[in-house]
Amino acid sequence: MRDLSVLVIGAGMGGLTATLALQKLGFKVKLYEQALALGEVGAGLTISPNATRALEFIGLGPFMAEAADKPSSGALVHYRTGDVLTKTERDGSFLEQYGAEYYQIHRADLHDALVAAVCANDKDAILLSHNFDTLTQNETGVTATFTNGETVTGDLLIGADGSRSSVRASIIDTIAPKFTGQAAFRGMVPAEAVKPYMTIANSTTTMGPGRLFTRYYLRHEALVNVVGITKTEAWKEEGWSIPATREEFLTEYAGWNENVIGIINAIPKDKLFKWALFDRDPIPEWTVGRATLLGDAAHPMLPFLGMGAAMALEDGVVLARCIEKYKSPAEAFASYEAARKERTKGVLLDSRKQGVWYQTSNPDNFKGFSGTGEMRMPLMGYDPGSIPV
Ligand SMILES: Cc1cc2nc3c(=O)[nH]c(=O)nc-3n(C[C@H](O)[C@H](O)[C@H](O)COP(=O)(O)OP(=O)(O)OC[C@H]3O[C@@H](n4cnc5c(N)ncnc54)[C@H](O)[C@@H]3O)c2cc1C
Repeated sequence: MRDLSVLVIGAGMGGLTATLALQKLGFKVKLYEQALALGEVGAGLTISPNATRALEFIGLGPFMAEAADKPSSGALVHYRTGDVLTKTERDGSFLEQYGAEYYQIHRADLHDALVAAVCANDKDAILLSHNFDTLTQNETGVTATFTNGETVTGDLLIGADGSRSSVRASIIDTIAPKFTGQAAFRGMVPAEAVKPYMTIANSTTTMGPGRLFTRYYLRHEALVNVVGITKTEAWKEEGWSIPATREEFLTEYAGWNENVIGIINAIPKDKLFKWALFDRDPIPEWTVGRATLLGDAAHPMLPFLGMGAAMALEDGVVLARCIEKYKSPAEAFASYEAARKERTKGVLLDSRKQGVWYQTSNPDNFKGFSGTGEMRMPLMGYDPGSIPV
């Protein structure tokens, strides 16, 4: 199907990966993004071995090896005492066990690298200021209409426009997401400012009643990424860039150990944000005719496993391989859904379970990290570049 023209909506991690994978396989792709300029928020991203393999497929393996951090140790910590509940030395073990590295990277750095790679293949591939509105289709093609009045026609359309996807609303549903009663704080702080509080391991999650606090290094240990997730009904806004105050963050974590409080106190005021966590059930179909979905548009998930972006990257690679292999859009999309639906549904449901486990486990009576132990191999050993399609 190499002569097909493919339209991708949304230049996030998933849309860029799909575009790059399709380019690599010889397709011409146009990627439409609503934003006026390309960029990502200041936050960290965990790239587990399954996601690393997707990045290796699209040629970003060397970039990751150079730009990302490889946490050499991880620990789970008691919220009040600061005692280590469990600790793992990781150096080299992911590569050995799963055949690919486990990384942590600044979202903006990975996003920039994906954009640069797409544009190196085709400098006109990405069109900004294109806010997708709706689509129509028939047996020969699909036409997207943007809110600026422009229309564009292609053979296939991929909706990679995130958890509030307009493509999904256009072809599948407009079901409202459910508020989970939880919210997250995120912040970024220079490592130098929090050195005394970073002693236990270079990646830690501290757990306490109804709350957790994760922090890890980025940019070769120059920055520390911070995420705190807490039960609260105080606000219900979902955006990624809602400013938060240090006082709000400290109020939620009153009584936590000095490493947590020290880090929160050091986050610069303009680097602290908050957002409410919403949940959506898995949907049975992602495709209608010549249009399909990927990433958060198809299966938005809670952040407790840190796998949302990983699933978007996997989708992008598998979908490109299906489009390459099959003669018709119907066969390609059917094969893509067959390869991806059960896996992403399982990860979505396990992310929920992991959240419940964090929120309900009692660190005073810690019984071991249940987490995702039993599913780690199928989860992280997955290779989107070689699974059968
Ligand atoms: C607290 C938190 C921590 C996380 N940590 C991790 C982690 O460590 N590891 C991990 O794998 N995942 C993580 N995730 C999940 C991850 O961020 C998402 O799953 C991932 O960004 C989804 O990628 P995407 O490309 O599907 O969507 P997005 O990244 O949301 O990209 C969608 C793109 O579409 C564009 N767009 C939207 N609407 C339109 C429109 N109408 N027209 C045109 N363009 C449009 C947007 O501007 C955006 O560029 C985390 C999520 C949260 C909330």
